[in-house]
Amino acid sequence: MFTEKGCLRFKVLGTRGSMAVTRKDQQFFGGNTSCYMIQAGEETVFFDAGSGLLNAPVDFPRPPHILLSHLHLDHVLGLGMYSRLSLKDRETLIYVPAGYGKDPARFLSGIFSPPYWPVSLDSYSGTVRILPLTFPLRIGDLLIEGVPGCHPGGNFIFRLSWQDRHIVYASDYEYETASFLRLIKMSDGADLVLLDSQYAASELEQRTGFGHSSPELGLKLMERCEIAHLLLVHHDPQRTDEQLLAWEAEIARKDIHFAREGEEILL
Ligand SMILES: [Zn+2]
Ligand SMILES: [Zn+2]
Repeated sequence: MFTEKGCLRFKVLGTRGSMAVTRKDQQFFGGNTSCYMIQAGEETVFFDAGSGLLNAPVDFPRPPHILLSHLHLDHVLGLGMYSRLSLKDRETLIYVPAGYGKDPARFLSGIFSPPYWPVSLDSYSGTVRILPLTFPLRIGDLLIEGVPGCHPGGNFIFRLSWQDRHIVYASDYEYETASFLRLIKMSDGADLVLLDSQYAASELEQRTGFGHSSPELGLKLMERCEIAHLLLVHHDPQRTDEQLLAWEAEIARKDIHFAREGEEILL
């Protein structure tokens, strides 16, 4: 076995929203953008490929599967510098939501090609397979389901299940009635739910349509369904460690915290 017997291993590689940051007063929660690694048995799945992907391991028992929730730059930029892609005889599978069109590679090559990037992803020495992301997706004994969220340009909410454990990923999500009902359905019974909390509720009034949420929405979600733990993600690039710690103290619940880059959770 690759992971501890019977354990699903979840790791935060990057949780900053919109833009990577390097300020000293943001190091505790981290500056890399969205990237989360999940390992169960011999399988590895990544949710998004922001700059946090640079801190991911390169060797796995089986080729890793990188699932992109959408193609905003903060969720894909890590691909360009992920060193596994440059290693011969290593295969990496990248999934682009099928809704973008019939040729998923075309959308990534729009970013990773001159003049925006020196080379295309298919010119790296490793084998890079870019596939359409459709649901349900089965990877070994992992099951990934997905439903549309609410975000400019579209986005997907993921639910990963392995044995009797469930993780829901709802980054880059703004409240809207129909999608919130879908989110409740996906989240019910989950061990861990990742929810976009880029803004405070007071800031959201000025940012309607930006595609993000607040910790208050997390509290509403927890009132509507059974969630063992809520992880607040996609921290605003201006948010300081002090502000996030103060928010946590205000929420004051053991079953809710703001994601810290590098933290691991065993389920
Ligand atoms: Zn984002
Ligand atoms: Zn986005």
